[in-house]
Order: sequence, then structure tokens, then C-alpha cells
Amino acid sequence: MSLAEQLDPAADATETFESTDPATGAVVGVFPVHDAAAVREAVERGRGAAQRWAALGFDGRRQRLAAFRGHLARELHGLADLVHRENGKPHADAVLEITLAIDHLAWAGAHARRALGPRRVRAGVLAANHAAYLEYQPLGVVGVIGPWNYPVFTPMGSIAYALAAGNAVVFKPSEYTPAVGTWLAAAWRTAVPDAADVLQVVTGFGGTGAALCRAGVGKLAFTGSAPTGRKVMAACAETLTPVLMELGGKDAMIVDDDADVAAAADAAVWGAMSNAGQTCIGIERVYVTAPVYDRFVAEVGERVRDLRPGSDDGAAYGPMTMPSQADVVRRHLDDATSAGARTLTGGTVQGVFVPPTVLLDVPEESAAVREETFGPTLTITRVADAEEALERTNATSYGLAGAVFSRSRARAMDLARRMRSGMTSVNSVLTFAGVPSLPFGGVGESGFGRIHGEDGLKEFTRAKAITRQRFPLPVDLMSFSRPPAAADALARVMRLVHGRHR
Ligand code: NAD
Repeated sequence: MSLAEQLDPAADATETFESTDPATGAVVGVFPVHDAAAVREAVERGRGAAQRWAALGFDGRRQRLAAFRGHLARELHGLADLVHRENGKPHADAVLEITLAIDHLAWAGAHARRALGPRRVRAGVLAANHAAYLEYQPLGVVGVIGPWNYPVFTPMGSIAYALAAGNAVVFKPSEYTPAVGTWLAAAWRTAVPDAADVLQVVTGFGGTGAALCRAGVGKLAFTGSAPTGRKVMAACAETLTPVLMELGGKDAMIVDDDADVAAAADAAVWGAMSNAGQTCIGIERVYVTAPVYDRFVAEVGERVRDLRPGSDDGAAYGPMTMPSQADVVRRHLDDATSAGARTLTGGTVQGVFVPPTVLLDVPEESAAVREETFGPTLTITRVADAEEALERTNATSYGLAGAVFSRSRARAMDLARRMRSGMTSVNSVLTFAGVPSLPFGGVGESGFGRIHGEDGLKEFTRAKAITRQRFPLPVDLMSFSRPPAAADALARVMRLVHGRHR
């Protein structure tokens, strides 16, 4: 791609669309709507790039991934400014998001060889005369479809690990954050000019994403809502393209009798309100045991009173990035209040800035408890004990993440293990997302497959098994020349080795 095209990606496109600043409506950029032919072209270009990229080996890739992260670190404030303008989040939150992405890039580059490289494994009794080898090979071109809420961190969770595993990537950012996606691909070309086509971006709406599903990629990594995830799976099923599904959540926090209540309240407010609540692993529900319920509600109320949405430097969080999301928030609030919920703070949705809203006594069957709200809202529910809290936490079709607050390590770890979710943090919120060695992903309607960590590297590979005969045995059991008595001899060996187990 020429420099002119990088600066003005829509220069030659027939159909284009605009991305806008959600706070002001100002146009951030104009982008092409890539059609199926353009998407296929990018994937074909990626195939050649993937072969050369794989041939560089772990060290060659690690070196280039380091150049990319160096570039991101040097340009951090510029990228954060773009994220602020296109997504609406405060500049400081954008810096935090990019920092996490850089850390993941570093980890993926540094650990790919250990997680994926060739190794010898035990061949076992029946193949004792063979050497057995295992390695994890790249898939070729990986398609990545991303959301808008963390436009750097979220797609990079797939991109960084797919690249480190030896794949090329074609990335379709959300139609709400195409400028950030285009910026990332341009940054890659600048930082890694000798493998420029290893990370390409195609822009557009759902149709462009659907075209990527059908373009012959080795895997499709999707991050977005569960309803769209179903469509992506259906499109990928046509060509048996494997998928990774990182979907929504309805994460809960459990606050037990012995919790540090002030710390729990502080974490709940951050987990629910930061990024205007538009966080897949955001806290949307809190279950608090009766002895600490009143204190917890008072602490939350106090902290929330100081928070204000806006797009200025003093704002705690920004606007709803996607204007239609404000309607979902309004529907959940109306539904909850008409079912008898009390509003501790907020409760009004006017325009794109939603005040921090805390709801009490929300019936468990209401939308505000059952569906993903994706806004700066929190329901707080009194429960008899932590067991009831866990039962209610797990009574959801989602299962992405969650948090437990308790001073008892054993109790907290037990609750965390039994929480039906892919990730749980004890005495904090969201922490697992910043630990590169931990896998990230959900259960149930929150999806399947994992990004981050060794599992995240393996997700973008296929396991390859090889055996090599070191010396022939006098009797070959897998030959028509084997003597008739061989089966009896084998049965005797099996009896000796395994027969004593009852
Ligand atoms: P979305 O499902 O509306 O869109 C996600 C992406 O899919 C966009 O790029 C969109 O253009 C594309 N798309 C739409 N229709 C498509 C189709 N038919 N075929 C292929 N692609 C299509 O989600 P969103 O509103 O951008 O993001 C918010 C959602 O993402 C929330 O549910 C949130 O919880 C979830 N999310 C999950 C994670 C996670 O890691 N589990 C992370 C961030 C966000």
C-alpha cells in the first residue's frame, strides 16, 4: 500500500463510510467498504506473506514483533488521542489499553518458541522403537473481526498471538473504530517493512466481516456480541473454517461477609463504570451478603457521586460509543424500575452521556440482570450468604468472568473455582486481562476458545504429530507378515502392564 493510500485509505474506493467522534459527531475519517473481492484479494496477499513470515522462524518473528511494539510505545500518545476521538474514552484509559496490548505483544513474542516449538515426547510402550515429535504449526492467514469498545487491546489479543504463532492476519475492525484499525496496520508496515503484508486491514460493516468468514482463512477469530457470533459461525460453517468466539458477558461480583467492603465498592464502581460500562468483562451485577450489604451500598453511593461522563479531561468516562447502545441501557432501566427496582444514583439516559446508574432490589428475571447492558450501570442485590451469591452468579447463559471479595483465601479461591466463567479475579476486578500468561475467554454464550497465554498461542496453530522409527523390531505388529502368535504375546504384555488394576 502506498503512503497516500495509508493516509487516505478511501482514496480509490467506490463505496465509503465515515467514522465519527461519538461525543461531538465530528468526522474522524472516511474509509472504504471493502467488498468480497477486495477481502479475498487481501487474504490471497496474506497467504504469500504468511509463508515468508513462517519461514522467518521464532527469532525472526520475535525481533519484528519487538520492532512493532517499540513503534507502538513511541507513538503511544498519538494512538491514544485517536482512540479518544473515535471511541470516546478518556485519553488516560486509552493509554492504559494500549499499554496492556504492548505487554501482550512482548509476552507472545517471547514465549512462542517454548509454547509451540518442536519437542520430543515419550513414544510409549507400543512404539518404543520410535521417536515421537510434537510441534504447533501456523494456520496460514487468520481472519480477525473486532469490536469497538477496546479497539486496540481486544483485537490485539488475537492479532499478537496469531502473529507470534507464525500466521498472517487480515483484520476487520468495527465500523465504529476503523481509524484505529487502519492506524495499527499502517504502524505495522512502518515498523516491519520487510513483512508489510503480514498484517492487513479491511474496513466496512457486517458484510465485509461476513466476506472475511468466507474468504478461505485458516481460522476466524471473532470478538463481539453473541448474536453476531452466531452469524459468524454459520458463515464459517459453509467452508468448515474453525472459529474462536470471544463474546459478551454479564459478569458478577460476590462480596462475602469478611470482605474489605471499601475496596470491593471501589472495584465494583471501576469495573462497572469505567469505559462507560462498555467492557465485555465489566461488572454488571453485585451480590452482597446481608451483614455487609448496607455498608457496601453506602460506599458505592459515595464513590459514584463524584463520577461524571464527558469528553473533557475531568470526565471519569466518555459517551456511549455506539448511539444505539443508549437505547439498550434505557430499556434495561425502564424494565427494572417498572418491576420495582430502586435507583440509588443516575437512572436517566439523555443523549450519549449516561450518568453512573446504580439499581437496588432488581428482580432476577429482569433484563438488567439477565441481558448484557453494556452501559455504566450496576445492580446490587442482597443475598443470605456467599453460596446464594454463587448460585445467582452462575444462573446466566453467559460465563465470561467475575470477581470475588473475601479476606479468606481458601473461601475466595473455592468460590472463584466454582464460578461458571472463564476468568475470575479475587479481591480485584479485571486483573486477569493484564496477565499475559493467563488465558482469556468464556463459557456458554460468552464463547469458546482462548486468547492470551500459551493457550492463546496454540489457538492459532494446528498440532502436528510425527513419529520416526529408530530401529525395526523383530516382530512388526502392523505387518501382514506378523506371526499368528503375536496377538497372544501382545495380550500377555497388556495383562502384565495393565491387568493388575482393578
Ligand atoms: P458486534 O457483534 O455488533 O460487532 C462485532 C464485529 O462484527 C464488528 O466488526 C462488525 O462489523 C462485525 N459483524 C457484524 N455483523 C457481521 C456478520 N454478519 N458477519 C461477520 N462480521 C459481522 O459487537 P460490537 O457492538 O462491536 O462489540 C460489543 C460486543 O463485543 C459486546 O457484546 C461485548 O461484550 C463483546 N466483546 C467481547 C470481548 C471478549 O473478549 N469476550 C471483548 C470485547 C467486546
